[in-house]
Amino acid sequence: MPTPTESTHVAEATQNSGAHTIEFVDVEKRFGDNVVLKDLNFTVKQGERVTLIGPSGSGKTTILRLVMTLEELSGGYIYIDGEPLTHAQRDGKRVPVPKKQQKKLRTRIGMVFQQFNLFPNMTVLENIIEAPVHVLGLPKKEAIAKAHSLLEQVGLPDKADEHPSSLSGGQQQRVAIARALAMDPEILLLDEVTSALDPEVVGDVLNILREVADTTNVTMLIVTHEMGFARDVSHKVMMFDEGHIVEEGHPDTIFTSPKHERTKRFLSAVL
Ligand code: ADP
Repeated sequence: MPTPTESTHVAEATQNSGAHTIEFVDVEKRFGDNVVLKDLNFTVKQGERVTLIGPSGSGKTTILRLVMTLEELSGGYIYIDGEPLTHAQRDGKRVPVPKKQQKKLRTRIGMVFQQFNLFPNMTVLENIIEAPVHVLGLPKKEAIAKAHSLLEQVGLPDKADEHPSSLSGGQQQRVAIARALAMDPEILLLDEVTSALDPEVVGDVLNILREVADTTNVTMLIVTHEMGFARDVSHKVMMFDEGHIVEEGHPDTIFTSPKHERTKRFLSAVL
């Protein structure tokens, strides 16, 4: 894969070759002396749904947080639709991308977190319209109409005026999904979105996400312990261990006939 030198060149190349929405090139991430990711290279195509599996601490969440620019990249490059997200390569040097450009790219990316992360002081409706109005500049009336339609979609049509604290975990997570979808993201990052939920509501939340997967072309990067969900919705599964991709492939292949010993051991523990 060529290392892009100019974002415009890559964007052209991407358009011509069927689109890499997310591209990691030689990515490195350190927390102090702890090297969590090193020489990590992978691509996610437009509309592709990729699930990251692997033991705790293998770097899966860090990957999502890097795409969302919630963590600083220690080395390498991440491209979104061929455009450099945080650093670009110019004349052989690694230079930071201007904050304005970074913010603009970020508006194409939505994330749903394990702990919901709703704004506690805002109502459900205010949570959902906040970014469309203040970041995208959508007229408030339009944002409100869209929020109501999304609340309908996630099965909470009568919760618009509630505050998050009065909702159950499952309901809060459904609001968080509606909030992410309100930005019409091109990329949706799902970080263990059911891990903090009571078992009986996990299915509801996963069904909403299955429907999003079935009815939109949104590119998804998913971290989950729900292997049934991963198998149903993913085009590709990547098995991680210690920051490296151990094995990747179609979910049917990875889940039924994994090749690598580490994948076999991991799956026998979780399935
Ligand atoms: P996974 O999602 O696979 O469980 P993570 O990406 O959460 O793995 O973590 C990978 C490694 O990075 C772990 O060793 C973890 O302790 C470390 N790590 C993650 N976030 C931080 C942080 N904010 N500060 C220090 N270390 C971190």
